[in-house]
Amino acid sequence: MNADLHCHSVVSDGTLEPEALAARAKANGVELWALTDHDEIGGQHRARDAALALDMAYLTGTEISVTFAGTTVHIVGLGFDADDAALIAGLAATRGGRRERAMEMGTELAKVGIHGAYEGALKYVGNPELISRTHFARHLVESRVCQDTQEVFRRFLVEGKPGYVPHRWATLRDAVHWITGAGGMAVIAHPVRYNFTATEEYALFTEFKAHGGEGVEVVTGSHNPSDYVKYTDSALEFDLCASRGADFHSPEESHADLGTLPELSARLRPVWEALHDRVQLPS
Ligand code: AMP
Ligand code: MN
Ligand code: MN
Ligand code: MN
Repeated sequence: MNADLHCHSVVSDGTLEPEALAARAKANGVELWALTDHDEIGGQHRARDAALALDMAYLTGTEISVTFAGTTVHIVGLGFDADDAALIAGLAATRGGRRERAMEMGTELAKVGIHGAYEGALKYVGNPELISRTHFARHLVESRVCQDTQEVFRRFLVEGKPGYVPHRWATLRDAVHWITGAGGMAVIAHPVRYNFTATEEYALFTEFKAHGGEGVEVVTGSHNPSDYVKYTDSALEFDLCASRGADFHSPEESHADLGTLPELSARLRPVWEALHDRVQLPS
């Protein structure tokens, strides 16, 4: 099964419309797809309709920003009811404050001589409630402060660098409960990106499971082959289902394209097996 269960549209910080992502997934051979915009499910109906029209199966998706042990952790939700009121309210609360944070980021960048970054970032924003660091990164590349977005996230916008503004996102408990309360599965996104110590990572996995989380991304755009092996072992150790998704944002920026990453190890239980009754099938 070619499943790709992690990507972003203009509804959050991707550059393609949901319909264009669906077409790209289909062209790459994806059979089961999910759009997982950050803190937002406003694109779900469009994504589902486009997928089904292309004869591709669909799972609802989102990626919730969480603060855990002082670090931002992302929790993917899959297969939930997109009309669930508590989930919708929780995501709206998580989005709240992004504008204020972005204005502060602009102020911080101005202190190192980069003026007008907030206004510049706004030009790339598709959803006014969802200004993100990615939009600042696009502006800093376009205005030639940096060569590419990777350079931006090395020199700016991250802890200890200009333009970084700490922010409190949802709690791990709330994010997992919003997803499971809406009938979906919570999945730890790209665990390698948190740079946790073994002890911190053990705490994340343990607390996540205690709250009702059931999955972890093993094969994803920011993991390399040794990470696939490491998190295959973690999934088995913690008895979690495994997910696969490119985390595709943009043809210009993303090195991993939809549906092109290696398959999950046969030792793993894929999230789509556990979610089979939540998969929306073409008629
Ligand atoms: P925010 O939710 O505003 O904090 O922005 C987070 C987004 O920034 C992520 O979802 C990525 O799209 C992007 N991002 C964060 N770190 C990096 C990185 N090292 N390289 C490329 N993109 C990154
Ligand atoms: Mn993103
Ligand atoms: Mn993420
Ligand atoms: Mn993502």
